[in-house]
Amino acid sequence: MALDEYRRKRDFRKSPEPQGKSGTTRAYKPLRFVIQKHDATRLHYDFRLELDGVLKSWAVPKGPSQDTKDKRLAMQTEDHPLAYGSFEGTIPEGEYGGGPVIVWDRGTWEPDGDPHEMLAKGRLRFTMHGEKIRGKFHLVKTSDPKARNSWLLMKSKDEFAQEGLTVEKMSDRSVISGKTIAEIENN
Ligand code: MN
Repeated sequence: MALDEYRRKRDFRKSPEPQGKSGTTRAYKPLRFVIQKHDATRLHYDFRLELDGVLKSWAVPKGPSQDTKDKRLAMQTEDHPLAYGSFEGTIPEGEYGGGPVIVWDRGTWEPDGDPHEMLAKGRLRFTMHGEKIRGKFHLVKTSDPKARNSWLLMKSKDEFAQEGLTVEKMSDRSVISGKTIAEIENN
């Protein structure tokens, strides 16, 4: 099942992360997305798109960018439960992904075509409707056989594209609590 790897990696007696239900398909659209800022071994942004009742997930070390010239490495990770989309808090040190997490952005997304077909082909085109991240993007699987899970996240040209608009130029606060990573950690 889709969430087996997610559950295998975590000890829910120790971590405050949600256990979640698998494949909770919702009868209505639109599809949701969440981007979590996560200060684990290395600071990164977890880019998660709802599909088939789970959150398809990529870890993006430099975070998404609204600049069409930026190509952001995005390592695909295990599917997460939909309930993860509202998770903020601190995963205890020593546990998988130990460190503070905030919901840095959230909203809805629209695949530009059949999302299953595009994912299988390693070329997902879509539109983001977030509070910070907006407009057309594409995620392209790299062809390097040694980097099986590596993709590139890129902004496509549209009215939301903006030169130099990286995560450093956007608010570093949670769109849920208004807190920064440091404020969540010291809570
Ligand atoms: Mn993470």
